[in-house]
Amino acid sequence: EQVPSSSMPRQRVTAKGNNVPDPVDTFEALKERYNVSARLLSNLVESGYKQPTGIQSHGVPILLESRDLAAISPTGTGKTLSYLLPIMSLLSAPSSSKTDVGKGVRALILAPTRELAHQIHNECLKLAQGRKWRIILFSKATASTLADKDAQVKVDIIISTPLRMVSAVQNGKLELSNVRHVVLDEADRMLDSEFLTQVQEVLAACTHPNLQKAVFSATLPANAEQLAMGMLQDPIRVVVGLKDT
Ligand code: ADP
Ligand code: MG
Repeated sequence: EQVPSSSMPRQRVTAKGNNVPDPVDTFEALKERYNVSARLLSNLVESGYKQPTGIQSHGVPILLESRDLAAISPTGTGKTLSYLLPIMSLLSAPSSSKTDVGKGVRALILAPTRELAHQIHNECLKLAQGRKWRIILFSKATASTLADKDAQVKVDIIISTPLRMVSAVQNGKLELSNVRHVVLDEADRMLDSEFLTQVQEVLAACTHPNLQKAVFSATLPANAEQLAMGMLQDPIRVVVGLKDT
C-alpha cells in the first residue's frame, strides 16, 4: 500500500497482527472515526502537517484503538507525531483537580538521549497549543519539583531518558502507577544492553492494568524485536520501507 505525501519520500507499509485497524488517508478522517478534537487537528495544520506519512496513517489508528504497537519506520518519516497525536487524543483533556484523572502521570515517553527527549518535548508542545497540558521534559530541575507528590498528580506527559526516570523511581520520588501509555522511542537503542535494565525497571513501575505500550524505531534487530514482542500484548507490527525512486 502506498501513502502519497508531497513532502515525504514514497513509502510502502505492511501491518501485521490481529484485527489491524484500517489506515487513514487524512488527518481529518480521525475526527469522524475517533473523535479526535478539532483543536488537536488545527494544531497539526498550524505545525504545517497537511497529510499523514505512512507510519502516521497506519500507526495513529492502531494506537487510538488502544492497541500495542511495534513500529519500524525510517528516520525522518514522522514517528514522533505517530504516538504523540493518539496519546494526546486518548488523554482527552489536561488533568485537573476537578476531574478524576488527576491521579498522577498519565503518559511516559522514553528516549535514549536528552537531545531526543528535548525534540519530542518541542513537538508535544506544538500539539498542546491552547490548552493547559502539563508536559514535562524530565531533568534534574523538574525531577526535584516533581518530588512533591502534589505537583505530580496533575502531570499529563513526561518525556525522559531512562536513567533520569529510573533514579526518580528508585528514590520513591515518582509514582508511575497511573501511567496509561508508555512509548519507547528509538527502541533499538532502548532495548540494547546499555538501557535495557533501566527500561525494564521503569516499565515494572508502570503497574496500571490498562497500560498501552508502543515501541518506535528506524530499525529493530532480531534480539531487540524479540524483547519488544515479549513486552507488548497482542501487538500490531507495522513496517515502513522507502520505495526506490
Ligand atoms: P522520525 O522520528 O521518524 O525520524 P520525526 O518525527 O522526527 O521523524 O519527523 C521528522 C520531520 O518531519 C520533523 O521535522 C517533523 O516535524 C516532520 N513531519 C512529521 N510528520 C509530518 C507530516 N505529516 N507532514 C509534514 N512533515 C511532517
Ligand atoms: Mg524519532
